[in-house]
Amino acid sequence: MLYQRSSQLFAEAEKVIPGGVNSPVRAFKAVGGTPIFVKSAQGAYLYDEDGNRLIDYINSWGPMILGHAYPPVVNAVIEKAKLGTSFGMPTALETEIAALAVKMVPNIDKIRFVNSGTEACMSAIRLARGYTKKDKIIKFAGCYHGHSDSFLIQAGSGAVTFGTPNSPGVTAGTAKDTLLARYNDLKNISDLIEGNQNEIAAIIIEPVAGNMGCIPPNKGYLEGLRKLCTDNDILLIFDEVMTGFRLAKGGVQELFNIKADIVTFGKVIGGGLPVGAFAARAEIMNYLAPLGPVYQAGTLSGNPLAMAAGLAMLKALNEDESIFKRLEEKTAYLETGIRKVLTANNVLFTINRVGSMISVHFDATPVTDFQSAARGDNEKFKKFFHGLLQEGIYIAPSAYETWFLTDALTYEDLDFTIDAIDKVSSTL
Ligand SMILES: *Cc1c(COP(=O)(O)O)cnc(C)c1O
Repeated sequence: MLYQRSSQLFAEAEKVIPGGVNSPVRAFKAVGGTPIFVKSAQGAYLYDEDGNRLIDYINSWGPMILGHAYPPVVNAVIEKAKLGTSFGMPTALETEIAALAVKMVPNIDKIRFVNSGTEACMSAIRLARGYTKKDKIIKFAGCYHGHSDSFLIQAGSGAVTFGTPNSPGVTAGTAKDTLLARYNDLKNISDLIEGNQNEIAAIIIEPVAGNMGCIPPNKGYLEGLRKLCTDNDILLIFDEVMTGFRLAKGGVQELFNIKADIVTFGKVIGGGLPVGAFAARAEIMNYLAPLGPVYQAGTLSGNPLAMAAGLAMLKALNEDESIFKRLEEKTAYLETGIRKVLTANNVLFTINRVGSMISVHFDATPVTDFQSAARGDNEKFKKFFHGLLQEGIYIAPSAYETWFLTDALTYEDLDFTIDAIDKVSSTL
């Protein structure tokens, strides 16, 4: 396959956009080559500017769980747009989507909508600090919570890929309030709590990590975190920007039956429009302005087009329970197929998977935290990535990313993908 027109477009973009992209991982720096410019997308497929069709295993990093240009979402946006695109005033639609989200997700009474996952996580820790009257937070190496200052301390994916885990521009003052922990290591957390008595407002975690590949929590790990938080008056924040409305209707809280104190959302909740949200029980959410003292606001928050898209998406997921079962079956089928062909081709690998999130690591030892994820053979990944691209398959352009499956994928697509992986991996 040729990607000539994309290369030309990238050269033009580089003149007027830093690095040619509006979000770093899109630039292909981790895999080499130039990014593909998309013209349109439908169902499980991307159509690029060169006229190629690619099977999409990223799906806009998660949101397109029911496929690209999903008709109920597209129609909702078109109809809403005709009625005006932004008011900066309340709409009934906001209450409708809030009520549905509160019904679908366990353990939350109120939810506030923002414009991105970054904003949701940033607001969640401000709320946690205001509510607990404590300053420090704990985050995990390799977990990504958006690009706000407090979180750019060993964040996963983009930040890791570029070797700037601590971005210049984040002050030492900010960084000192973020304590770094190791994923899946409870002892590490109890030590940090011990060493910072009555100073920790919140622990924020991706309850199934998705920004260092897919890393499930060890058995009992989230339960252990829950207990440590409860015992020490620390709020447990589940960053479900990736996992929310993807691993189950109610996200990881439902999947593993664990209660978080604050939950953040993004990606699926916006149906492909810029939406984030954070939610908690009433006593915590009532701490937010205008009811409470913690300030948080947004000119375009609750935007009618974004809310219409999100509502159409959540309705579809709420009405058809079988979606999550189908996604599980399709992803399990893909996993089995990949295991078979990689084994047959004598490639050393680890595959991690939870529901429709899956990652392939080119290293045979278990991947349970950032350190073990970093052991993967990056050169092999680059070859794998470009090999698949030639076969018309698009996976994330970084070894630290999870694949997100869409229900629009057919078993034919999956078989085609497994065959392509067989072909590519025989050359690794
Ligand atoms: C994508 C992501 C974010 C950031 O969301 P944006 O909409 O990109 O700002 C935060 N947390 C997690 C777990 C994510 O995957």
